[in-house]
Amino acid sequence: MNEDKDSFIAEVSHELRLPLANIKLLVETLLDGAVEDPFTARRMLGRAKEEVQRLQHLVDDLLSHEKLQAPLFDMRFERVNIHERALYAVETTRELADAKKVKVVMNVPENFVLMADLDQINQVLINLIENAVKFTPEGGTVIIRGGGIPPIIEVEDSGIGIAEVEIPKIFQRFYRIDRGRTRGSTGLGLSIVKHIADLHGAKISVNSKEGHGSRFTLEFPVSNRENIKS
Ligand code: ADP
Repeated sequence: MNEDKDSFIAEVSHELRLPLANIKLLVETLLDGAVEDPFTARRMLGRAKEEVQRLQHLVDDLLSHEKLQAPLFDMRFERVNIHERALYAVETTRELADAKKVKVVMNVPENFVLMADLDQINQVLINLIENAVKFTPEGGTVIIRGGGIPPIIEVEDSGIGIAEVEIPKIFQRFYRIDRGRTRGSTGLGLSIVKHIADLHGAKISVNSKEGHGSRFTLEFPVSNRENIKS
């Protein structure tokens, strides 16, 4: 447990170091004279802003991650309408999808309800949809599905896919397949998704083919499905 905590702190420090070093260098270069040239100054401040955003994203993910690790983490199970949550997640990620001209399709029945923690379901959907959009080239498609017995929540994309050897590793915290290509990512999103799946007793599986896309499926226990009479 302690060893795990120690390695977590070491990993976090490592992740914080690079953006901080970049910001320090940019500020020093500005102070050394770059500030006199408005064009250069603006460009460097733009880069500093990107690094600050990266830090902000990292801290947000770290807080979610830490909260879920707390031994007495208080889950609030309630009736959660997955159709509504999926709509909310699509709205939250719309800007990113529109910017990349990625089409997001929803295929979740309106009466699909699970006994679950609402905030955590929001987070699962947002993380999976955000990844699907992020790793899908322009013009691609993301499909969100839900329902069935046992009940599932699924996000499929037509993106770059994941090599088979990488699949077991992507749920590890801070793991990113290609650090260079995935700027602005923290490698914590899927470890948070996995944790939330565990807290709900759900199984998570990945089907993927490099160059063809990926499908992430969460399968919940049948007992989590609310029977709707309509
Ligand atoms: P982040 O998205 O912040 O990098 P994640 O833990 O969510 O971190 O994902 C870990 C890695 O798994 C990503 O960096 C990426 O390499 C890979 N990955 C996740 N989702 C997808 C996807 N839909 N398609 C292709 N690769 C993915």
